[in-house]
Amino acid sequence: MSKLPNIGTSIFTVMSKMAHEYNAINLSQGFPNFPVDERLVNIVAGLAKKDVHQYLPMAGYPPLLEKIALLVLNSYGRILHPETEILVTAGATQAIFATIQALIEIDEDVIILDPSYDCYEAPVLLCKANPIRIALNEDYTPNWERIEKACSPKTKMIIINNPHNPTGKILTELDFEALGNILMKFPEIILLSDEVYEYITFEEKHISAHTRSQLLNRCVMVSSFGKTFHVTGWKVGYLVAPEHLMKEIKKVHQFLVFSVNSLSQVAISEYLDLVSVQEISSMYKEKRDYFRLLLTNSRFELKPCEGTYFQVASYSAISPENDVEFCKRLITEHGVAAIPISTFYENKKDLHLIRFCFAKDNATLEQAAKRLCSI
Ligand code: PMP
Ligand code: GLN
Repeated sequence: MSKLPNIGTSIFTVMSKMAHEYNAINLSQGFPNFPVDERLVNIVAGLAKKDVHQYLPMAGYPPLLEKIALLVLNSYGRILHPETEILVTAGATQAIFATIQALIEIDEDVIILDPSYDCYEAPVLLCKANPIRIALNEDYTPNWERIEKACSPKTKMIIINNPHNPTGKILTELDFEALGNILMKFPEIILLSDEVYEYITFEEKHISAHTRSQLLNRCVMVSSFGKTFHVTGWKVGYLVAPEHLMKEIKKVHQFLVFSVNSLSQVAISEYLDLVSVQEISSMYKEKRDYFRLLLTNSRFELKPCEGTYFQVASYSAISPENDVEFCKRLITEHGVAAIPISTFYENKKDLHLIRFCFAKDNATLEQAAKRLCSI
């Protein structure tokens, strides 16, 4: 008997594998293909010869905890206690898993907004709890009325993802007001805020849950150095939670990984002294604008992209196929891999939309766009 009978292989794995098999340009799974900052590479090379290869403390390398606190202070003005409120995790995925395992009990409800990233549902199911999936509006704004209606004394958590994968949407002040009102009415609900793309927003500034003082004693915020520093394969992230929740999360974390790999923690800690996270958005804005420009003469209709490194596009003018079939044919016949958006919905709602990752060097974007414009 399977504990997760309806969970299959992640669409990112499926599409990347297929891209590899057909030697297609891989704009599916989200990862950068440009070189990592040389300063970070040099730090790693230097550290490899030093004494950094044994277990670090369970919650993280103490200087890194201090620097995360400083990063949050500089970015959002929030003061954190590194020893009690920050946990270094094996990527955001593990942060989310540990949080859900620690805080959700049998038969409780967890609200997830569709289209949703794929790592929220399975940990909820493993708790024998109920993922309650609520569709965003057509313009990808949250439907707060519908969300409030879904809340009850059984609701234990609302998961938000801001900036949003796959749609690139970001939350506004009005969204936070509406969310705040719901949370005031349901004081037992915990907010899990997945902000892995916090440093990748364009015209509008990212509003972090860190800045909502009235929510902080019931909010778990998750981030990923994989996204921030273009090292997705390192699988290092962190979570911030108030001490009473953190105590429970650490109980799970210590038996899930105990502590995160030492070399990358020390490297990131040193790198944080050199780098400015505020420059990341402008680099990705250039990429977004360039990719969109390259596709101007294609038959794809590009949706707005306010943040993240994903561009959603409609292929309605090209084909009536469903999005999974279209993505497969895009690989086999046109040599470009993308992600079908229907896979982010509980009911696999197909709106003929696909997602491209533009975190690529210009040559890759140009080559991909050439192929996409010929369709
Ligand atoms: N949340 C979102 C919205 C993501 O896109 C990702 C993907 N990378 C993650 C969480 C997981 O991040 P990590 O690779 O650090 O586990
Ligand atoms: N977050 C990445 C994406 O959205 C995928 C990461 C993974 O494959 N688990 O493409």
